[in-house]
Amino acid sequence: MRHPRAHVWKAAAGLGAGGATLAGLRTAAGHPVRSAPTLAAAGAGLAAGGIMVYQCLTPRSWLYGPVFWHARTTERVVALTFDDGPCHPYTEQLLEILDHEEVKATFFQIGNNVRREPNLSAEVASQHIVGNHTYDHPHLVWRRPGTVRAQLQRAQEAIHDATGTLPRLFRVPHGGYGPQVIATAEELGFRCVGWSVMAWDWDRPPWEAIERRILHGLAPGGVSLLHDGQDTDAFPKADRSHTVAAVPHIIRSLKASGYGFLTLPDLMDLER
Ligand SMILES: [Zn+2]
Repeated sequence: MRHPRAHVWKAAAGLGAGGATLAGLRTAAGHPVRSAPTLAAAGAGLAAGGIMVYQCLTPRSWLYGPVFWHARTTERVVALTFDDGPCHPYTEQLLEILDHEEVKATFFQIGNNVRREPNLSAEVASQHIVGNHTYDHPHLVWRRPGTVRAQLQRAQEAIHDATGTLPRLFRVPHGGYGPQVIATAEELGFRCVGWSVMAWDWDRPPWEAIERRILHGLAPGGVSLLHDGQDTDAFPKADRSHTVAAVPHIIRSLKASGYGFLTLPDLMDLER
């Protein structure tokens, strides 16, 4: 059964369409466009439409169904997550750092990259949690449910072939959850995930900037987003050296502030 919140967006759609229609009808019936009721109807329609569009684009989406992006807790714990891998040599370097620091993390892998690096994918899965990040990283926000389903299932097959595990977490590429994306992912048994802080690390800022942005944005229960790959690109086109350089500093700073590290499923369990 869908989460009850999965149907709230229909009310917003009704308000949006209703407001716009009422404003249009009043104008057609000869009421002045600038009359208070017409403006109020148009304003309500625009506001509802704006919220609907915004909710398609934010990783903290709530209107179209539940997206987990942080845990409501005062406990000093965070979840580190890495997207777009596996990608040689950055994923191995991250595994080494995480192992050395005794930190467990969550990796949202791209099916295409798993096919290219199955052993690396398996190594990640043997130590950390692996999530599904589609097969080839398309924008799904306006795509049909069939496309969403095919992307999730193809990636799931690739990850299962490489690791023997079937991920239960899904993070949409580029952060945009349309209503059909969440509905389809939930039908397939996935829990949708966003994030509370990211560092624009795909632009390859200096590692100090990556560290500063993550530390500035993380709070108890937070979920950080960094990248161990770049879409479906391989080395040397994909360059995540700055991200890898930042991670040990991020971990040590957080530890010094009393933070612990959980995988996403463990962070989710805190809320139950
Ligand atoms: Zn991605």
